[in-house]
Amino acid sequence: MATEPLATEALLQVDLAAIVSNWRDLCARHGAAVAGVVKADGYGLGAPAVARALAGAGCRHFFVAQFSEGVALRAALGPVPAIAVLSGFPPGADPSGTLVPVLNGPADIAAWAAAGPPAAGCILHLDTGMERLGLSPAERATLVPGALDGLDLRFVMTHLACADEPAHPLNAAQPARFAEAAAAFPGIPRSLANSAGIFHGAAMASDLARPGCALYGINPTPGHDNPMRQVLRLLVPVLQLRHVPAGTPVGYGATWVAKRDSRVATIAAGYADGYLRALSSRGIGIVAGRPVPLVGRVSMDLITLDVTDAPDLRPGDRVEMIGPGQTPDEVAALAGTIGYEVLTGLGARYRRQYLPA
Ligand SMILES: *Cc1c(COP(=O)(O)O)cnc(C)c1O
Repeated sequence: MATEPLATEALLQVDLAAIVSNWRDLCARHGAAVAGVVKADGYGLGAPAVARALAGAGCRHFFVAQFSEGVALRAALGPVPAIAVLSGFPPGADPSGTLVPVLNGPADIAAWAAAGPPAAGCILHLDTGMERLGLSPAERATLVPGALDGLDLRFVMTHLACADEPAHPLNAAQPARFAEAAAAFPGIPRSLANSAGIFHGAAMASDLARPGCALYGINPTPGHDNPMRQVLRLLVPVLQLRHVPAGTPVGYGATWVAKRDSRVATIAAGYADGYLRALSSRGIGIVAGRPVPLVGRVSMDLITLDVTDAPDLRPGDRVEMIGPGQTPDEVAALAGTIGYEVLTGLGARYRRQYLPA
């Protein structure tokens, strides 16, 4: 009798219905238009699939970071939704294209004023306290009258530095500075809140919110219950199980030594798949709803787990390393980072499965 080959590849499941549900929830909270921020390949989950699902639900505005991301997204989405490029266009980009550059400084404005407006219009970024991109107050003051005439401005925008820390004074200062700066552009719609900003309510409402992380299930209200639905599950198969007698070390550097006679599972993912090495002897896997500890170092392609207390686990079974039982935020906290980094680091080797919207 032939035996079935055992799974050796990790599976990354992305629940598009959960992403759409999160977007609708954000629309209801914001009470005005809500874009989808799909930079960095949709925070690691796959920009084409995510954006198609959101467009199907009625999302009409997308943001990417880089021009090449915008070109790829346009091919995936077809002609209708607006796609804005947060870092602007590279020199020589074709202005007759269908992407919208964000103008982040006087040089961007001058370049488009000389070239004529891009066919799809522009967005002007006004810095109100992030000190990263966008026109500073001093730069705004030196704009000659008419510098922006004919540039076909679609939005003015700013970006919040501390929306995930509600008590931070910048949360009062930035919307006020934005209102003042945007007043110089009467009639132009405004774009303000990121995910966390939407949860500040009316104080951070605008014509277009730009959430990213909350779409993907990251908690936009740190310190409070996560209002978003979980979106992904990373299921990693067991390649082998071995008996490890008490006193025996496991893995590179022999950093973990079994305190009791143990059963150790070796599973098929590692730091090359974005499972952070900082999780060595800190991470957990979920087996049958229960946590099992990661033991020893995370290696490039493999992770070892102490599954002594999960006696039913067999080779080929899949262990949940990220998912509802252990969210990206929780994985990030164990690794000393943020959920964004866990998501955007998700590796290219996972077999990806999209659960339909
Ligand atoms: C990344 C980004 C966003 C989305 O931020 P989240 O915190 O993920 O919601 C919005 N606006 C700009 C300018 C960004 O760079």
